[in-house]
Amino acid sequence: MNRHFDLIAIGGGSGGLAVAESAARYGKKVAVIEPHKMGGTCVNNGCVPKKVMWYAANLAHAVDDANGFGIPAQRGATDWARLVAGREDYIRNINAYWDGYVDESGITRIDGKARFVDAHTVEVVGERYSAEHIVVATGGRPIVPPVPGAALGITSDGFFQLTEQPRKVAIIGGGYIGVELAGVLRALGSEVTVVALEERVLELFDPMISQVLMAEMRKQDIALRMNFQVAGLAATDAGIALDAANGERLDGYDCVIWAVGRAPNTRDLDLEAAGVAMRSNGIIPTDAYQNTNVSGIYAIGDITGRAPLTPVAIKAGRTLAERLFGGRPDAAVDYDNIPSVVFAHPPVGTVGITEREARERHEQVTVYKAEFIPMRHALSTHGVTTAMKLVCAGEDERVVGIHLIGDNVDEMLQGFAVAVKMGARKADFDNTLAIHPVSSEELVTMKTPEPDPAEHRSIDSGVEWKEAG
Ligand SMILES: Cc1cc2nc3c(=O)[nH]c(=O)nc-3n(C[C@H](O)[C@H](O)[C@H](O)COP(=O)(O)OP(=O)(O)OC[C@H]3O[C@@H](n4cnc5c(N)ncnc54)[C@H](O)[C@@H]3O)c2cc1C
Repeated sequence: MNRHFDLIAIGGGSGGLAVAESAARYGKKVAVIEPHKMGGTCVNNGCVPKKVMWYAANLAHAVDDANGFGIPAQRGATDWARLVAGREDYIRNINAYWDGYVDESGITRIDGKARFVDAHTVEVVGERYSAEHIVVATGGRPIVPPVPGAALGITSDGFFQLTEQPRKVAIIGGGYIGVELAGVLRALGSEVTVVALEERVLELFDPMISQVLMAEMRKQDIALRMNFQVAGLAATDAGIALDAANGERLDGYDCVIWAVGRAPNTRDLDLEAAGVAMRSNGIIPTDAYQNTNVSGIYAIGDITGRAPLTPVAIKAGRTLAERLFGGRPDAAVDYDNIPSVVFAHPPVGTVGITEREARERHEQVTVYKAEFIPMRHALSTHGVTTAMKLVCAGEDERVVGIHLIGDNVDEMLQGFAVAVKMGARKADFDNTLAIHPVSSEELVTMKTPEPDPAEHRSIDSGVEWKEAG
């Protein structure tokens, strides 16, 4: 095999595959280095298996609500083995698609872990490969903190390997992965406690989101133990115990899941050999064009510490290929106004800045808010709140933030994100006729701004119940 390429992507995940396929389309000689299955975190241990589980949980909630609509339905125990088998089949199909696609695109697949030898050479299982351009797209891995007994817990990777449904679960971490797994496990019938250091879940989100989500989680009987610093795990007669720094103990779990963040996969890369700078936390800093400090070496996706989301990694990969080979030397990703969804129960959608950030950045900020129980719950006994907030800046009320929680906001957000990206004003929202009856009509019919911006206080629209769909 000729071991010299135009471009080598290290990592066959969202970013690595995106840059490789785009470069190959420009007729370049490309290799992807990957030690595991193609598709990376998103396909194998992230978005895809998570979303399958989320759909299962949604169906469980729907069964609970069905009787109110005159549809007799009763839940039994979740057939975990069947669910997992179906999910894994689905993922195998995606892996197979990628394997085939890589072959058909003429991309060379190299199995194994890469480490740098110099700025244009990497070594994989004793073989050396060189390229004009090397793209580091090695993503991240779940963090397990170095506390006593930590190994008694699993991570999100371990969650996707569970062959039996855990009976009583503690999830450590109130970030997006923690709340997503909590919602799924609870809906499928596990007893769930979320333990977090912070005062609220989704701490980086607009507080309205955290408040509504915490209330909804409590309604589902998910126990929330906030301000709890886990100092260690211990095996006890009752199961696994979580010991807090202050001596408090939570005991009796048959499964503990660490969801305390992710660390970049830089440690095996021998970046020093190529002179690539990284931060003390392993993140590889890049400029606006994904350049590292070494000419010809680039980094994309989670490894860069910027917006760790699949579409962001894909966009960075495609944009880099366009810049290098597509005659667009200025092509760069715009990292502003990236929409994102948390697949909690109920889901969360957000684009732009929070109310607090807006008040820090802009002199004039207007906030509109609505809170209601959507019609989906009209005949059920489990009313799930929907809450929406529009954050507007300046005299012309440019919409700089949209924060949503409630049924279907995951599907609602994408179109509104286009509007925010285009610089839409509140008046543009007002001028758009509503669709009725759907929950999203609230976003174009909000009338009452917050009366007292100085106190960072928003008001509810005052409507407890609206005839929104
Ligand atoms: C539980 C969970 C749920 C998620 N849900 C969502 C979601 O709903 N939506 C969303 O947008 N994002 C989601 N994400 C985030 C998303 O998965 C990542 O942002 C995305 O996968 C990043 O792509 P990447 O290319 O940077 O890295 P990855 O997809 O992680 O790919 C990196 C690849 O590099 C390989 N690798 C590592 N070291 C080496 C080496 N030395 N040599 C060669 N290869 C190496 C790895 O095996 C891996 O396949 C989720 C993540 C998790 C963990």
